[in-house]
Amino acid sequence: MKTYKHIFFDLDHTLWDYEGNAGEALRELYDHHRLGEKGMFSKAELVTTFFEVNDMLWDAYNHHRIQRKDLRERRFPTIFKRLGLPIELRPKNIELEYIALSPTKDKVFDHAHELLDYLNPKYDLHIITNGFDDIQGTKMSSSRLDHYFKVIITSETAGFRKPDPRIFQLALDKSGAEAGHSLMVGDNLRADIGGARDFGMDQVFFNPGRKSHTERVTYEIRGLKELISLL
Ligand SMILES: [Mg+2]
Repeated sequence: MKTYKHIFFDLDHTLWDYEGNAGEALRELYDHHRLGEKGMFSKAELVTTFFEVNDMLWDAYNHHRIQRKDLRERRFPTIFKRLGLPIELRPKNIELEYIALSPTKDKVFDHAHELLDYLNPKYDLHIITNGFDDIQGTKMSSSRLDHYFKVIITSETAGFRKPDPRIFQLALDKSGAEAGHSLMVGDNLRADIGGARDFGMDQVFFNPGRKSHTERVTYEIRGLKELISLL
């Protein structure tokens, strides 16, 4: 085991429970807009369709095929189109409402705070996220994650998205870390794990869904608590 000094965390789907929080926000918006009374689809179908469309758009964003504004302009129209909701029945401001509401939710993965409390005195902790400044900042304060991290790099401020080596370089420059003494923890095999590996950083693949893969990873965990025994 190498001697690590700096640990870089991804935020969404790694510490902050994106699915749990987004699902809660969507269920509230479903009730608020009385979408059930329009009789087209259930609450569960809204959530499922949201993730199908959202994953597709985020993948396009991460591959530079679309921009942030495209992601936001296309998300709910695509969801409602798939669900068969006519344009005149669609809530007009739901994208803005979703963006305001979802980051205020505070669900984190099990043992996230326990892990960070354990690591904080021993290592310098940082965030590298492909999310956007305002949103990620709100998520971190809502879930009381913000005080653990010294450097927080978003793709928006960096101008590059993981796995681009330039976002990792910026993170090292800002934190004063060296790749050989750094560890990247994340749930995305391409952005987090591939990006860090190509940059010479060891990686921890957070894989709570136990998806099978053929990537080379330094460590793989199913729950955050496993990191406590590893570090
Ligand atoms: Mg992630």
